[in-house]
Amino acid sequence: TRTQSKNRTTAVVKVGAVASASMCVLFGGLVVAQYFLTKKKRAGKKTKIIEMMPEFEKSTVHIRYPERVEQIICGMIKGGASKLQVITDFDMTLSKFAVNGKCCPTCHNIIDNCSLVTEECRKKLFQLKETYYPIEIDPHLTMEEKYPFMVEWYFKSHSLLVEQRLQREKLPEVVRESDVCLREGYEHFFDRLHQHAVPMFIFSAGLGDVLEEIIRQAGVYHPNVKVISNFMDFDENGVLKGFKGELIHVYNKHDGALRNTDYFKQLKDNSNILLLGDSLGDLTMADGVPNVENVLKIGFLNDKVEELLEKYMGSYDIVLVKDETLEVPNSILQKIL
Ligand code: C5P
Ligand code: MG
Repeated sequence: TRTQSKNRTTAVVKVGAVASASMCVLFGGLVVAQYFLTKKKRAGKKTKIIEMMPEFEKSTVHIRYPERVEQIICGMIKGGASKLQVITDFDMTLSKFAVNGKCCPTCHNIIDNCSLVTEECRKKLFQLKETYYPIEIDPHLTMEEKYPFMVEWYFKSHSLLVEQRLQREKLPEVVRESDVCLREGYEHFFDRLHQHAVPMFIFSAGLGDVLEEIIRQAGVYHPNVKVISNFMDFDENGVLKGFKGELIHVYNKHDGALRNTDYFKQLKDNSNILLLGDSLGDLTMADGVPNVENVLKIGFLNDKVEELLEKYMGSYDIVLVKDETLEVPNSILQKIL
């Protein structure tokens, strides 16, 4: 029986040795395969900088032309802080689209949901949203086709707000009690731009007074930030009586630079632009800016992802799908500044 047991042990040892030898071969093979795969991927993309950035590895990041993005980022790094400016949308770009599957409010929605608005008015505002928001994001309509519907939506909803005789002094409380939330990493984004004196143009079709209150309460309304939006006009008692200036809606952002020539003239040396948006209308925010060297367009795709991804990838340089953070823009700033 002792011989039998010895034979069994030898057999086990032999099987073990064969098994570990095959594991070694398999593992070695995998490493070699991985090496060649990575090498091939690198050679195909011809990018260096963005491949070294872990933020670009996230599954939320979609890029049609990596070489182009690489080239733009290189140009922006070369230009540094003194040549950079940021042009950004606000709602659903700097603010979150959803938290744990629950939608976050736009500037308008903060007012729609607040206690200053009567139930009847709230109902009407929601009905308007149900009619017009699907048009805003309809993948089958052109921006030109959507344009008149947006004007209609803003006209009707702003008229309803004026009827409510909203008081200016109540706005801070309304914002404080809302569910609005800025994207993860916003402190870093705003603070870094401020630190390096990079001008930041927030161009929003939302409500300027609400927007300013949000960034003020978040502690990031620094002097390098300029807000262009729909600002409320109050009477001498602080009651809403209308809106100032020309209406900004989702699809008329192309003449923003033309309407703010003084601002952009001052920034004629800031020829590298980082543009952030979430709507196809935001793509035109830098149109008319004089002296442009490089523009990097980053788009957040929050809704109707399947239907819109192709279109977004064809027009934004970097598309961030259901990404509630500013990690990618922050990682790019890290390289430039
Ligand atoms: O800052 P941004 O330009 O993104 O603000 C526009 C947003 O406001 C749009 O996405 C639109 O859906 C929203 N909006 C709204 N209620 C309105 C008009 C616009 O929520 N009455
Ligand atoms: Mg937006």
